[in-house]
Amino acid sequence: MLTIGRRPLPVVGRARMYVCGITPYDTTHLGHARTFVWADVAVRVLRHAGVPVEVCRNVTDVDDVLTSAARRAGSPYDSFAAVQQFYFDRDMAALRVHPVTYEPRAHTYVPQVVALARALLELGHAYERDGAVYFRGSGVRERAGIGAEEAARLMAEFGDHQDDLRKDDPADVAVWRPSAKGEPGWPSEWGEGRPGWHAECAAMAMTTYGPALDLHAGGADLRFPHHAYEAAMAEAVTGVRPFARAWLHVGVVRVDGAKMAKSAGNLVFTTDLLRHHPVGAVRLLLLGHPWAADWDYRPDGLEEAAARLERLHRAAYRTAAYRTGADRPAASAGERAAVRALLDDLDVATALAIAEEEGGQAARTVIAVLALG
Ligand code: ZN
Repeated sequence: MLTIGRRPLPVVGRARMYVCGITPYDTTHLGHARTFVWADVAVRVLRHAGVPVEVCRNVTDVDDVLTSAARRAGSPYDSFAAVQQFYFDRDMAALRVHPVTYEPRAHTYVPQVVALARALLELGHAYERDGAVYFRGSGVRERAGIGAEEAARLMAEFGDHQDDLRKDDPADVAVWRPSAKGEPGWPSEWGEGRPGWHAECAAMAMTTYGPALDLHAGGADLRFPHHAYEAAMAEAVTGVRPFARAWLHVGVVRVDGAKMAKSAGNLVFTTDLLRHHPVGAVRLLLLGHPWAADWDYRPDGLEEAAARLERLHRAAYRTAAYRTGADRPAASAGERAAVRALLDDLDVATALAIAEEEGGQAARTVIAVLALG
């Protein structure tokens, strides 16, 4: 059985996984790649354990940063997003991230966000103000274990300004907001507007899976406010708790202590790394630190990962006979221990250590499950 965050995640039947996807306005950098490769490993480990997994990874193609990037490029926001999405899909394929089952795009889920806003209003969890619908967010910060000052900083960073005077409470966030001239907009009973970001993911996840899901993945920097409010809105409207049974919040990638981000000007692109190194080495690099930990990227880390990949492959072929199908010998103690490690909070480090030490079938299984071949 898979454990995530030290808690067992038993699954009867299929596992429903939601991966908080990209805003398609720029090329895939290591920060994105790390999140999606770790989510891919969770999928592969579950499937190896015989659990069918459905994966829903959304595309946030209605977003202020996307709108302004498209405007700078002189392109309509939807065609700009479609082109960026094409590059993203190409990068995911190059990184051997398994294709997802569902890929909802925010701009086709506007009626579902309107339905969500309407339900929240009817239940008294939201109110309308000047063409906007605000979700009552008191208690969300406390449940997420975030201090008041940090919450204010993070909410401002992600566009939920606490000093918006139209709100009853600084903790409230927009489910629906009016669109200014030149911004994408859709008709609603509150006037022309567009969905709030957290409401988009809540609507896409609930439309795909119903009121709850098993594993929700995404970058650790999205834990608050994005995921905390997404879950709070879903729970408020369905009454089903928890919305997500487990969270895979993948730590952020830093360069010289600063978070890798377009605004910091320190992006490292996966296409550049893949030009000179095998995909197995790039995946090993991205999996080189536990998923929950933040990671300081160093260029020489890739050389180390490439050398390690060599050692792993040598270990895999240390035993002469490679047999498959009915001829395949029963799993060795080493192979079983490596798989157990992967199921134990995706402990890739231990699985790799066992693979190198044991070699043979144990190494071949770890290489196959982590797609390092
Ligand atoms: Zn999301």
